[in-house]
Amino acid sequence: MSSVLDLARPELRRLRPYTAGAYEPDCIRLNANESPWRLPGDKSERGLNIYPPPRPFDLRAALARYYAASEEELLVTRGSSEAIDVLIRGFCRAGEDGILICPPTFDMYRLYAGIQGAEVVTVPLSERDDFALDADRVVRAAGEHTKIVFICSPNNPTGGSIPRPRIEAICDALAGRALVVIDEAYHEFANAESCLHLRESYEHVVLLRTLSKCVALAGARCGALIAAPEVIEFLGGVLPPYTFPTPSTELVLSALVEDSLRVSDERIALIKRERQRLAAAFLDLPAVTKVYPSDANFLLVRTRDAQAFAEAARQADILIRLFPAEPALADCVRITVGRPRDNDRLLQAVAGVEWIDES
Ligand code: PMP
Repeated sequence: MSSVLDLARPELRRLRPYTAGAYEPDCIRLNANESPWRLPGDKSERGLNIYPPPRPFDLRAALARYYAASEEELLVTRGSSEAIDVLIRGFCRAGEDGILICPPTFDMYRLYAGIQGAEVVTVPLSERDDFALDADRVVRAAGEHTKIVFICSPNNPTGGSIPRPRIEAICDALAGRALVVIDEAYHEFANAESCLHLRESYEHVVLLRTLSKCVALAGARCGALIAAPEVIEFLGGVLPPYTFPTPSTELVLSALVEDSLRVSDERIALIKRERQRLAAAFLDLPAVTKVYPSDANFLLVRTRDAQAFAEAARQADILIRLFPAEPALADCVRITVGRPRDNDRLLQAVAGVEWIDES
């Protein structure tokens, strides 16, 4: 019977996994060549002198509850960036297999594919149509050696969500042909429903989530890869053991409690209100020609002169993002929605931006 793992690198499926040393809290540990003493000032619960568990099991349980998944469906990663890496390493043979992406999109898909020696097929989003994704073209472009199709929704840096029927059309067409990885790094800022439940209908669908954006934990580097249990088990053999640091585990566990999550929810609501306010204010500026619809915590803004716009922000000590390597975004800037007072300061800084009118 065929399995989604038929898409994975066959040589990795045969690789014998590493056997981790036993961990029993009540035993003296003379089995892992660690220091027997804590460093002065080490206030961690577990002790930083001993290795973390091979996988952060408690954190996995907490994240599974948070995303309403089962523990067997979830792999904890160092940010969702590591999830992208481990997927490409697990499914793409160097020089033979590849991924498909829809630029402009998150650049790390391309980078990790390059590092792995995987080919990158591109199906650009339609610039004329607010960077819409053409599901038919994606399906047609996915070739025999395309092992992973990355769909970023809401998409970074364009900001829009990919409509559910298009995502489902791609999932339907690529069953048994490629993994469909739906990167929902910005989902919490969207009004659309999450695609998390698609994994119940499709064993080749993988979801990526992160605590970096919505829960204010970018520095803790905590992401989640959610997929069918056999995919998680396989990737658990690709991601080396002991990668997730003890301080991050303890910190995230202490943050995933009702009080902090309520604060996060309030802040997400504020970011969404500020996003709307900023979008309207940008549209009133003579230097702005378009503000793209956004379901994320940033806005993509087309300007008459992106350099001048960014320079005006820089004069007020504000950094915004330019895209010199992406021709479709040559005039664009990406602006993260900040605190209301930061947003006011930005609006003030760019209000007088001048540009060279070439008409
Ligand atoms: N996916 C997307 C679409 C992103 O924009 C980012 C970060 N900018 C990531 C994944 C990775 O985030 P992290 O590694 O912090 O989870």
